[in-house]
Amino acid sequence: MSKIVAIDGPAGSGKGTVAKILAQECNLTYIDTGAMYRAIAYASLQNNIDISEEEKIVELAKNSKIDFIDGKTYLNGKDISKEIRTMEVTRIVSPISSIVKLREILVDMQREMAGNLDVIMEGRDITTVVFPNATYKFYLDATLDERANRRYKENKEKGMEVTLDEIKENISKRDYNDMHKEVGSLTRTEDAIYIDSTNLTIDEVVEKMKNIIEV
Ligand code: C5P
Repeated sequence: MSKIVAIDGPAGSGKGTVAKILAQECNLTYIDTGAMYRAIAYASLQNNIDISEEEKIVELAKNSKIDFIDGKTYLNGKDISKEIRTMEVTRIVSPISSIVKLREILVDMQREMAGNLDVIMEGRDITTVVFPNATYKFYLDATLDERANRRYKENKEKGMEVTLDEIKENISKRDYNDMHKEVGSLTRTEDAIYIDSTNLTIDEVVEKMKNIIEV
């Protein structure tokens, strides 16, 4: 039986960072589902499709091939790892990911990607919709201030000029939208192990999770 580690949590909770480390250390394939929604948001921008044109976005997703190779995200064979992290994409990704039919397509894709592999998958609906019966389920959290600070530092290191206020506003809007979706909303379930990382280092979070995964 393959092993599935599912992690959900709000933006900036550290899911991506810890999932990448755990993937390496525990020999798991890492699947970043947020990057998949971002890829479709990016493709919509590239094709001048407005977020209100739901059918066109769904059609776009049907014709999109998303791959993760060596830590990079590819859309139809093109490396779009940098492009999907811009504020332009970040601003529209949450409303786009509310399109129910788009979610169906990406959830199918995520299950197919996992196949029979041992995976660590992170997002918003992994523990609830994609793999409710995952081997291990986690909900990673942190306060809004802490999450905004983390994103701010990350962006600064990448040379992106976005103010802390802008980031905080975006994260809090996304949180609200992500928690109030008709389908696939971010929900903390009772059977998911809850970790508040506000006062923990990345290593401490990794250690906690590793102890659970490796039993
Ligand atoms: O994880 P990340 O912040 O990159 O995800 C970007 C956006 O994609 C989220 O704000 C959320 O709206 C959407 N998303 C989702 N379901 C997932 C993963 C991400 O709706 N499983």
